[in-house]
Amino acid sequence: MIDSNGNLCRACGRAELEFLLDLGPQPLAGGFLSPDLGPKFHEQTYPLPIHICRTCGLVQSTFVIPADHLFVNYFFSSSTVDYLVQHFLNYATWIKEKLDPQFVVEFGCNDGILLAPLERLGIRTCGVDISHNITDIARKKGLNVITGYFNVDVAQQIRREHGAVDVVTGSNAFPHNDHPEEILLAAQEALKDNGHICLEVMYAGSLLEQLQWDSMYHEHLSYFCLSTLEVLLNRFGFHTVHAEIVPMHAGSLRIVAAKDSNEKPDPTVEMLLSKEEAMGLTKLETWKFFAKTTQRQIHVVKEILGDLGKDKRIWGYGAAGRATMWVNACKLNYLEAIVDASPLRAGRLMPGTHTPIVFPDALRMNPPDYILVTAWNYFDTIRSKESWFEGIWIVPAPHLHFI
Ligand SMILES: [Zn+2]
Repeated sequence: MIDSNGNLCRACGRAELEFLLDLGPQPLAGGFLSPDLGPKFHEQTYPLPIHICRTCGLVQSTFVIPADHLFVNYFFSSSTVDYLVQHFLNYATWIKEKLDPQFVVEFGCNDGILLAPLERLGIRTCGVDISHNITDIARKKGLNVITGYFNVDVAQQIRREHGAVDVVTGSNAFPHNDHPEEILLAAQEALKDNGHICLEVMYAGSLLEQLQWDSMYHEHLSYFCLSTLEVLLNRFGFHTVHAEIVPMHAGSLRIVAAKDSNEKPDPTVEMLLSKEEAMGLTKLETWKFFAKTTQRQIHVVKEILGDLGKDKRIWGYGAAGRATMWVNACKLNYLEAIVDASPLRAGRLMPGTHTPIVFPDALRMNPPDYILVTAWNYFDTIRSKESWFEGIWIVPAPHLHFI
């Protein structure tokens, strides 16, 4: 089941990886369990080693679980998250205004959260995603979706059936891929000569600034900044012409890269590259410090909450991948329940600790003393939604605090 990338850097292709830390053993972060499996069910856990490339500075996970194991049945339907619906609505408008495309292809399209607003703007779309259950949802919305990988074959099929593409886009799916070069080769095949690729990826700068080790789970393989992404794009005939940081997932990098080598970058590219240089974002010592601070934070939360959990009732809030990381890294098996509004997760059990996941109304019926906000990046939204709660909120990151 386990694959390996042969310890070559995913950005520059060199064998210069240096070990930073191991966040394992961890179960699959999105492997929410059915309660029918029974209390004795023991799911598999895996190591989670994080490395950095000494040549280009790309921080990357080196333990690869094949994508068809992770994503074929996927419990993350983007359109169930209001915040993401709004994000992709804005992104669709942004693409229209910036690039004015007629035909857009999105890889890793999930349930069509971007395709639907693009279509409403009069843009033809085609989505590609390997998750059968999620592409079924997209198809039921009347969207044009291919179930499979976005590779050269699929790119040729799209070009044959629908014509050449103006924009290829992917949000988050790009760093999920062990072989991002296959996506770039496919984009080269699908795009017109003056076409663009747009990417939104979790930003290594935000990861560093906010100590987001909890987003380093098995699905996420590469933690790009503009400097490292540019190394990869250049190898496959693209160069970045625009870059900005957007709020999604506590800080993501959005770039536009051109296929036409004569297209000039706007000033945002040089500005962000200079900022990254000043931050030391591709430096070994920067990430060694990150690794040390992460280990300290895990220890502190484990000790403080462990004491609290002996005589207080604690629930969690937000059963996304980050929550799996917190409950397993900090051994939070005493949490009574974790609240989540997604019907794909509520009613199931957390990976590893088997904590029951419940809908928000269960919280109102039986409020605990403390709520640990495992979805800490959505804390403001959660707190305003549950403003009736009179107990204490625990926000574990970027720094542990009680409210
Ligand atoms: Zn490298």
